[in-house]
Amino acid sequence: MKTIGVLALQGAVREHMNMIEKAGAQAVAVKKVEQLADIDGLIIPGGESTTIGKLMRKYGFDVAIREFAEAKPIMGTCAGMIVLAKEIVGNEEPHLQLLDISIERNAFGRQVDSFEEYLTIPGVGEDFCSVFIRAPLVAEVKHKDIEVLATVNDRPVIVRQGNVLAMSFHPELTNDERIHRMFVNMVEE
Ligand code: GLN
Repeated sequence: MKTIGVLALQGAVREHMNMIEKAGAQAVAVKKVEQLADIDGLIIPGGESTTIGKLMRKYGFDVAIREFAEAKPIMGTCAGMIVLAKEIVGNEEPHLQLLDISIERNAFGRQVDSFEEYLTIPGVGEDFCSVFIRAPLVAEVKHKDIEVLATVNDRPVIVRQGNVLAMSFHPELTNDERIHRMFVNMVEE
């Protein structure tokens, strides 16, 4: 059985761990860089991207996760997607830069704090209930290798580039483990 770590610096860690287990892998909360050696895939959860970014740098995860990504799959959700992006709209310092997109934070504006959409996602299936909370949106796809798996208002909300899968919404907040199963499959490949 594969082991998937959830970066446990800040944000929705426990929910992802439950879904990983439902999807048939073993889940572990990653708090120390050394733990990266013992996992087969990593999830960077939602939360607050500035805080996650700061803590990553403080504990050396910025360098260690970039190394990890050379060999193993990573999935980022919401703030995790922001942390993976190459560019953040508005001059904010980017973090891991593992995904060739430009990302806009809180892209739905203050009046739309959260909403749900049913998405059809290749490799996942139909009617996946996607929960968006102060969600980012992809402003620009910056590489031809990026597969856009679904959009909302014509803007990409879930993308894959090689071993990196990222989405604006929170797949851990429903009972539907199909996205986590897709990630487990990426890890098993
Ligand atoms: N708005 C948050 C940020 O910019 C992300 C929100 C989330 O992860 N639910 O970091």
